[in-house]
Amino acid sequence: MTPLLDKASAAPRALTHRELVEILTWPDAKKLFAAAYAVKCREIGKFVSFRGLVEFGNVCEKDCYYCGIRRSNGKVRRYRMDADEIVREAEWALKAGYGSLVLQSGELTGEANVAFVENVLKRIHAIGGDDFGITISLGEQSEETYRRWREAGAHRYLLRIETSNPELYAKLHPADHSWERRRDCLRALRRCGYQVGSGVMSGLPGQTADDLASDIEFFASEDLDMIGMGPYIPHADTPLGMNAEWTPELRKARLELGLRMIAATRLYLHDVNIAAATALQALDPEGREKGLLAGANVIMPNVTETRYRADYQLYADKPCLNENSTLCRGCLERRIASIGESIHWNKRGDSPHWSKR
Ligand code: SAM
Ligand code: SF4
Repeated sequence: MTPLLDKASAAPRALTHRELVEILTWPDAKKLFAAAYAVKCREIGKFVSFRGLVEFGNVCEKDCYYCGIRRSNGKVRRYRMDADEIVREAEWALKAGYGSLVLQSGELTGEANVAFVENVLKRIHAIGGDDFGITISLGEQSEETYRRWREAGAHRYLLRIETSNPELYAKLHPADHSWERRRDCLRALRRCGYQVGSGVMSGLPGQTADDLASDIEFFASEDLDMIGMGPYIPHADTPLGMNAEWTPELRKARLELGLRMIAATRLYLHDVNIAAATALQALDPEGREKGLLAGANVIMPNVTETRYRADYQLYADKPCLNENSTLCRGCLERRIASIGESIHWNKRGDSPHWSKR
């Protein structure tokens, strides 16, 4: 290897900001990915953990400029699954051996929604017990709400900061969306006892390699347990995506940048869980496997009933729209075996970083 990759591999958080930028822009991407993959194998093993993803509703109070299900997109057919449907899909994931579940939706903050989610969590926890991981990704909420959901059975929470640069954040959101509030939510989640996950989008307009290096430093300074990040992909019915150029070359470069972020994050943090996001697969049918080989160790197969999938389109070219969950499971099993990794069936797959706390 080279001295800088050796230094990054030997100990976590060993790089300066400049060195992180250097790693992110490393000329030989293959070498970079191989170094990150070796750290992943050493820290986690040659295993992939699964989380069954249920996208249970696309109604959202927020209006992020990049997101296809933002409040102001009038073209979206809105849906919300009922509690029985969500629990049924959780049971499917449990029986499929996924070991963990992620419940995700648009952001809703009223008491009716808080109580609805609380009830669903209690029902799923009653079925799966403590051995079945429950992650939720339901946006910014009050600390009291986070606490109620934690007590009802959720133990991991994903809330992407989107970018660690507050000025860039302000350009991607309306004025009433606050970067500081989002960061404070991450801290509230920690106080409530969750395993805390966050992440960013890479390839945002105006984002620099410096920003991405700062994003990784932000993950370290917030002492995150899990990282879920992915490439930004334009959606034609959003303010940010409507006039965006989107050529095959751009898609290729966006994929590579997403992989570089995974590799640099693994080389800097070593023992956290890192997800290979579905957005990678939207850019390349083998995007998630490439993510694993660049240092990720978690995949979130979609277990949402097929008829809802087309209505939860955050970006263009969402994959597996017409596939059912059983098909997805078989396809993933083959793909993971093909890269020489095995699946951690029926395991919660907690982040080693969290387990060491
Ligand atoms: N509403 C919750 C929230 O925002 O945290 C959870 C669901 S939200 C759809 C999950 C993530 O989707 C966001 O954190 C954002 O990073 C990602 N996302 C939204 N639009 C995207 C796009 N155009 N390209 C890539 N990722 C996108
Ligand atoms: Fe809503 Fe989340 Fe999309 Fe923002 S990213 S509009 S909060 S679903």
